[in-house]
Amino acid sequence: MLKGKSAVITGSTSGIGLAYAKALADEGVNVMINGFGPADEIETERKGLEARGVKAIYNAADMTKPAEIADMIATAKAELGSVDILINNAGIQHVAGIAEFPDEKWDAIIAINLSSAFHTCKHAVPLMREAGWGRIINTASAHAKVASPGKVAYVAAKHGIAGLTKTVALETAEDKITVNAICPGYVWTPLVEKQIPDTARTRGITEEQVKHDVLLAAQPTKEFVTVEQVASLAVYLCTDGAASITGTLLSMDGGWTA
Ligand code: NAD
Repeated sequence: MLKGKSAVITGSTSGIGLAYAKALADEGVNVMINGFGPADEIETERKGLEARGVKAIYNAADMTKPAEIADMIATAKAELGSVDILINNAGIQHVAGIAEFPDEKWDAIIAINLSSAFHTCKHAVPLMREAGWGRIINTASAHAKVASPGKVAYVAAKHGIAGLTKTVALETAEDKITVNAICPGYVWTPLVEKQIPDTARTRGITEEQVKHDVLLAAQPTKEFVTVEQVASLAVYLCTDGAASITGTLLSMDGGWTA
């Protein structure tokens, strides 16, 4: 049922975003990927998506720049024909205590992890209303529901995404558009790998201890969530079976927030 639809996925040159793009392409969805990275690696990923038999395009919009975001949505409509599915996924992390937290990291995390979703939704919702169908999926986090020390900006942004998800869901409830947030626990991606040294420094423990005693300590299954598991939930949310699921924060966190 998703064949021929089009999706814009922010922050999809790596990790969970790339897994969303692959899973949707496997369902016949044309995809626009976005994010940073070496041009040759992005082109290899784009070709890999096209090899799944769909149209795949790359847009380099910086999620801190509202004008580039507006242009990205307009380009997706022009080149893919529609924006049926929007996945707000771009995100960064910085770990530091409140007294040391750099102002520029606060601003960047709020811009990329929260404000970018406001701007994409603002431009995509009118297109979805016009088409009479739409799916918006926000990658939130277990940190949309609970907090951890050293992550003030990330936790604030993800709690903000929860509010944005619920509000846009209510505003589009009669338009055959659903808006939901997926709240993963720790997923093994470059974002998690990169925060291990800082967490070790903040807490005064080794990197191995961070992995096993801090990250997986929060996750009762003692296993990292996989990017494929997160992507399969997103594909389900795009189906007709999920048409009545809107405004929800769906946990996939190995029991963390239970
Ligand atoms: P990742 O670092 O692998 O991917 C992040 C993506 O965002 C990359 O494609 C990167 O290029 C892109 N990006 C960063 N800054 C950008 C900007 N200014 N403009 C456009 N793109 C930008 O990380 P990931 O773990 O796959 O994270 C993806 C999302 O999942 C994030 O929102 C993150 O908060 C969330 N999340 C991750 C985990 C986890 O454990 N990995 C858990 C819960 C939620």
